[in-house]
Amino acid sequence: MIFDLWETLIDWNHEANTRMHTRVRERVGFDFHERWNRATERYTTPVRTVLAGVGVPADAIEDVLSYRAEFVRTCLVPRAGAVDTLKELRARGLKVGLITVCTEDVELLWPESEFAGLFDAEIFSNAIGLSKPDPRIYLACCEQLGVEPGEAVFVGDGANDELEGARRVGLRPILIHKAGEDPFWPEVRTWDGLRVTSIPEVLEHV
Ligand SMILES: [Mg+2]
Repeated sequence: MIFDLWETLIDWNHEANTRMHTRVRERVGFDFHERWNRATERYTTPVRTVLAGVGVPADAIEDVLSYRAEFVRTCLVPRAGAVDTLKELRARGLKVGLITVCTEDVELLWPESEFAGLFDAEIFSNAIGLSKPDPRIYLACCEQLGVEPGEAVFVGDGANDELEGARRVGLRPILIHKAGEDPFWPEVRTWDGLRVTSIPEVLEHV
């Protein structure tokens, strides 16, 4: 079973994100958030390269990295039941994978998170230089897990067209969204496949 990270296993902390962008703007003296969002390569390139590319001066890079690290650390907290579910899947003899479209910060902080050691394959977009829904990113994960795409399940909130992308390469996609709410992404509001509203619920689909 393969999981997305953001808004699947962890929450995006909007407040911490805004706080981080404010600190960075004060440090660099321009609207960092706007330039950052336009840097489409931010998920497939080393973070220092991205920061330099959007105009962060060399003497501010370490500070910006530390503000970003603080934000990512705040977010890298498993949702309720996530750790137990990942352990349970492995206890049942299943392989567990991760495919995340993320900045390098996530990969750097991963070893100190509660997720460390819980996956059989971890695909960080920045490390592999690919993003979802590129078929190769799913295939790379399946290969590392030693499973065929047709045997694999992919769980995600639907960002980056990741569910259809998974389906196109033969994985069985499961949409996750918050109970009592519509899915966040408009393109999956009419999702016709499986859906869950908590991570432990995925155990019913293995
Ligand atoms: Mg996500």
